[in-house]
Amino acid sequence: MFTRITKSAAETARLAQMVGKKLHEGTVVCLDGDLGAGKTLFVQNVARMLGVEGEVTSPTFNLMNVYEGICRVYHFDLYRLESAEELDDIGFYEYTEEPDGIVFIEWSDKFPEELPEDYIAIRFERTGGASDERQITFRCVGEEFVDDLKEMDEFCRF
Ligand code: ADP
Ligand code: MG
Repeated sequence: MFTRITKSAAETARLAQMVGKKLHEGTVVCLDGDLGAGKTLFVQNVARMLGVEGEVTSPTFNLMNVYEGICRVYHFDLYRLESAEELDDIGFYEYTEEPDGIVFIEWSDKFPEELPEDYIAIRFERTGGASDERQITFRCVGEEFVDDLKEMDEFCRF
């Protein structure tokens, strides 16, 4: 586990770009935290680093966006999802169980039972200090991404 404090959206963007350099195909990343905490901003900047060129928008209404970068990038947002059955309809399990790209899931903690065994979890929290400050905590669920997380910790310094 490791934590970074960012003092602005620009700093979170920079952190995301560094993380993007360390992500590889087959990785699932879950992002949780309140509305406006910075999850989508983070995905937008990772996607940029992964070579996605078009606009990266929040998939709040359509549940999932797919982008093409150096690999395929899947971006889920479960905020408006009402039941786990709908996950089947959008192909969630196919994408998350054996991903042929990198998968981001905003609001993953709404459906903890539906997540794969291994993933990187990122939590975004306001610090209670300045309104633009965020505490961003990275941890691993399962064993698969333990080494990746260690590398990320070493690489993402600012
Ligand atoms: P979420 O997807 O978590 O609901 P967004 O990424 O859409 O949140 O929005 C985050 C908002 O907070 C943006 O308007 C961004 O400019 C602002 N913001 C302010 N400070 C930060 C920070 N340190 N990190 C990330 N976003 C920040
Ligand atoms: Mg969002």
